[in-house]
Amino acid sequence: MKNIAVYPGTFDPVTNGHLDIIRRAADIFDEVIVAVLVNKNKRPVFSVEERLKHLKENTQELKNVKVDFFDGLLADYMKLKKAKVAIRGLRALTDLEYEFILANTNRELNGEMETVFLMPSAKYTYLTSSMVREAYSLGGRLKNCVPPSVEKELVEKYKK
Ligand code: ADP
Repeated sequence: MKNIAVYPGTFDPVTNGHLDIIRRAADIFDEVIVAVLVNKNKRPVFSVEERLKHLKENTQELKNVKVDFFDGLLADYMKLKKAKVAIRGLRALTDLEYEFILANTNRELNGEMETVFLMPSAKYTYLTSSMVREAYSLGGRLKNCVPPSVEKELVEKYKK
């Protein structure tokens, strides 16, 4: 049986930190599904279609990585995909409290699934999508934070 992992997130936008985690997961699991969460309560900067495009463009060299989206519970999506492992990235201790609650809640909802935490390269431990959005919305530029195609679209978005 294939060992399938799901990497869920908002990816608004995908950063080099996310891509670092995806590469590490692809090295470990037979198949990695990067799953964009469609959260109707959030107003993302990039549409689901745009986020899927960014993820596909930047993972195409990884043959065991697929890109998908879901709404509703991750626990249900995992069952649908017959995936046992949910991947989450751990940057620093600040992530731990939220991730601890999330992993335990997911375990309650789906006793079959395990959450596996991966750490990115140290240079990405400070990187968050929200900080990227904030910087670009105020006209700033960040080096080595997002892929070039995403940076171009970020600049375009905030020009409007
Ligand atoms: P959320 O909306 O839950 O914050 P994100 O889309 O920002 O989700 O991130 C999805 C996952 O990727 C989370 O586990 C988050 O901790 C992780 N992540 C985000 N940025 C980084 C980074 N720079 N390095 C490693 N993991 C990261």
